Amino acid sequence: MKKIFLSVFPVGAAAALCLWYFDNSAAPSGSFFSDKIGLVMAFGRLAGIVAALGVMGQLLLVSRAAWLEPLFGLDRLTRFHHKAGLIIPLALLIHPPLVVWHHVMQTGNGFIAQYLAVLGWADVLAAACGEFLIIVAVILSLPFARHRLSYEAWHRAHLGAYIGLALSIGHQLELGMDLNAGLPYFVWTWYALYIFTLVNLAWGRALKPLWRYHSRKFVVEKIVPETTEVESIWITGRDMASLQAEAGQFAILRFWAPGFKLQAHPFSISRLPDGKYLRFSIKKSGDFTTSVHNSLKPGTPVIIDGPHGVFTEKKCLGDKALLIAGGIGITPLRSLGERLRASGKDCVLLYANRAQKDIVFRRELEELEDLGGLTVHHILNSDPEWTGEKGSIDADRIKRLVPDFAERDAFLCGPPPMMTALTAALTGLGVSRTRIHSEVFSL
Ligand SMILES: Cc1cc2nc3c(=O)[nH]c(=O)nc-3n(C[C@H](O)[C@H](O)[C@H](O)COP(=O)(O)OP(=O)(O)OC[C@H]3O[C@@H](n4cnc5c(N)ncnc54)[C@H](O)[C@@H]3O)c2cc1C
Repeated sequence: MKKIFLSVFPVGAAAALCLWYFDNSAAPSGSFFSDKIGLVMAFGRLAGIVAALGVMGQLLLVSRAAWLEPLFGLDRLTRFHHKAGLIIPLALLIHPPLVVWHHVMQTGNGFIAQYLAVLGWADVLAAACGEFLIIVAVILSLPFARHRLSYEAWHRAHLGAYIGLALSIGHQLELGMDLNAGLPYFVWTWYALYIFTLVNLAWGRALKPLWRYHSRKFVVEKIVPETTEVESIWITGRDMASLQAEAGQFAILRFWAPGFKLQAHPFSISRLPDGKYLRFSIKKSGDFTTSVHNSLKPGTPVIIDGPHGVFTEKKCLGDKALLIAGGIGITPLRSLGERLRASGKDCVLLYANRAQKDIVFRRELEELEDLGGLTVHHILNSDPEWTGEKGSIDADRIKRLVPDFAERDAFLCGPPPMMTALTAALTGLGVSRTRIHSEVFSL
């Protein structure tokens, strides 16, 4: 079933392009491909169609659809969405000048005069505003701008792209000659693609989490401090087992209380799901997480979007695993380690922190060690009282502490520079890239 859904958009997009080509090259007027004027219009329209297909594809990538997300993982899909989005402004910037140029060649008007005249046509001005909003959203997602903006500001600009799409649909349907020139198969395919995209988006992003919330009544049952900066939120509800949450996955949480409702944030499951509770452990790192620490109360309802992610036991193909965590990156590895050792795999955890007071789940990790199947090494880089491993985790330390590292699947989660350095260290030690799995705390 998943494969069928997976092929709907590529097949539909290819069909739309073929239908568009054949319909237009066989048009009675022969206009599109017969001369230079027709050719310019053809490319102008093609750019518009590619931009619209690009936007639909982008929306599907972040739709959190159940037929797509488990195959690749939400984080990889989101990263692909960030890169693939660049094609849209290119196509959007090409579309208007080519169409205007076509009309200039037909009418003999000046380019600017013709541009302004075109803007006066039905729905074109709205589409131009929509194009502007979409391009702004893409530009603000480029690294140079993204790093200067707060997540919320960037997110609001991104929501503007949805308004941009809504503004442009009228133009596609009303004015796009391709859609109303009596070419029914193309039109039907186009409508079907939009319906498929929007249904998946609405279901995955809004209706499914809301329906689950309504039927399961998720609620914060208790809040337990772990360190001075981290506390665990225990969430329960009806029929929690049916969520089929796996250790290592994450969910996007929206606490339904004043001051929290407008924001949804991702957090990893930090304890093996037991069919009754999901536990998330949250470090104070900004506005939202600080308010969670300061004002979230037991009894608060929660909308859970997820679980998501493929950083799970299924990635561990051998009998042994090497888990490497930095700071709050322990959360998915804490639950994954518990799952792997329960499945009889041999796990070693290297856990890096600044000082002993920063170690999250210290007692729980000791208890898991006592059960067997998990060995934990703490590595601290700025605790004068610490007599154990000091410094950072690098290739030499991995070789010394985990001599059989080459036989292990590696799972990493920590600050981005640490993950980059560790991936390089492991590949430098000859570990295949396919056996290194990482969870990045950024979508
Ligand atoms: C897959 C995943 C799993 C995570 N698991 C944990 C965990 O178990 N424990 C934990 O403490 N933290 C976890 N995080 C990080 C956590 O989501 C951020 O620390 C939190 O959202 C920061 O919000 P803030 O407003 O407090 O901080 P800010 O200072 O506003 O944000 C800090 C950074 O967090 C990211 N961020 C902020 N808001 C969002 C959002 N709504 N959606 C996505 N990213 C956002 C951005 O990259 C931002 O630059 C996880 C992140 C991801 C992507």
